[in-house]
Amino acid sequence: MPVRHVSSTSDRRRGRRRTLVDLFEYQARDLFAAHGVPVLDGRVATTPEEARAAAEAMGGGTVVVKAQVKTGGRGKAGGVKLAHSPEEAGERAREILGMDIKGHTVHQVMIAEGARIAEEFYFSVLLDRSNRTYLAMCSVEGGMEIEQLAVERPEALARVPVDALTGIDAAKAAEIVEAAGFAPELREKVADVVVKLWGVFTAEDATLVEVNPLVRTEDGSIVALDGKVTLDENADFRHPAHAELVDAAAADPLEAKAKELGLNYVKLDGEVGIIGNGAGLVMSTLDVVAYAGEAHGGVKPANFLDIGGGASAQVMANGLDVILNDAQVKSVFVNVFGGITACDEVAKGIVAALGILGDEATKPLVVRLDGNNVEEGRRILAEAAHPLVTVVDTMDGAADRAAELASAGKA
Ligand code: GDP
Ligand code: MN
Repeated sequence: MPVRHVSSTSDRRRGRRRTLVDLFEYQARDLFAAHGVPVLDGRVATTPEEARAAAEAMGGGTVVVKAQVKTGGRGKAGGVKLAHSPEEAGERAREILGMDIKGHTVHQVMIAEGARIAEEFYFSVLLDRSNRTYLAMCSVEGGMEIEQLAVERPEALARVPVDALTGIDAAKAAEIVEAAGFAPELREKVADVVVKLWGVFTAEDATLVEVNPLVRTEDGSIVALDGKVTLDENADFRHPAHAELVDAAAADPLEAKAKELGLNYVKLDGEVGIIGNGAGLVMSTLDVVAYAGEAHGGVKPANFLDIGGGASAQVMANGLDVILNDAQVKSVFVNVFGGITACDEVAKGIVAALGILGDEATKPLVVRLDGNNVEEGRRILAEAAHPLVTVVDTMDGAADRAAELASAGKA
């Protein structure tokens, strides 16, 4: 279990996290169970032997062996298979483990109690950013990929906006299931599950809860047979238990390192490392570098990194350290607007950071300082005269220089 960085209040104010965490199906299933959503028994296995033992422990009857990968369409790809005995469960697990599904290698399977499915439905609730609201989607035609349904038979997919303040209460749930076209005798049961799924959504601070398929079994129960949940990590301070759900192995190692250091970093796919203070400034720096890069063989920004308003030399060093460890990076653009922390402090920070990094700093740095106490900042950098550092006074000029250096480093 990796040590988790627990952000302090000031951390959160400075460098807001924006990460969303997609859960594995078995984790979604656990959350569903915790909030009273009907699910079937399920256990995780990482070897065929474990799969066999799990099927046996579940009574030895029919089970479904399901690839645990964070992508849809597992069924179609051969990652969901029925097994009628523990031995068969072991065999199916042997086939599925190690499989590649849309670029995701299967390291775990879930052994799920087999359901006798009478009908498959669809339900989801998500944060609808474009309409600044929540949106519930529901259909009596579940099972297939929802994107396909939305395109081919949009009328079969009910879309019901959900007010954040009132949420999905019994009345709203009734409206949703009616709009979806459920038979009258099923509505109450389905609506009850919909209310509980809304409970998962709000209680866990999710941005997506999707059930596909939600099924009616032959004995008449409504069961969530497959679940997809995306958690909003901005709310992780409210959910200490969510730390366990983060798939450390799958995270980008630089992002993982940045996270441990409490940095607001996102790895991108270019060659110019970016450090700035303030999310807005960093965003516009990405644009300016992407534009400048077009004139230099198409080099692009390598990352987003906002070190925040009051960044110390240590934070600057941490940021540089993460960026310089990105093998794709050929140059670094440090773009700082001195505000609360004046430019002379930032300049001292850069010089100190280079001192801290020593021989590990090997790539050219282009620094643009502006704002509070800029003259003194530039003077400090000039006096330090570090061989890797070039100071350029304008943002466009600095972006161009950084792109040029990256392009030269690439060649
Ligand atoms: P996905 O393809 O990644 O969305 O994986 P799902 O968990 O949705 O499974 C795909 C399909 O397998 C479902 O739509 C069902 O038709 C089928 N399936 C899943 N679990 C069971 C089960 O317990 N019993 C039966 N008979 N079919 C199942
Ligand atoms: Mn599914």
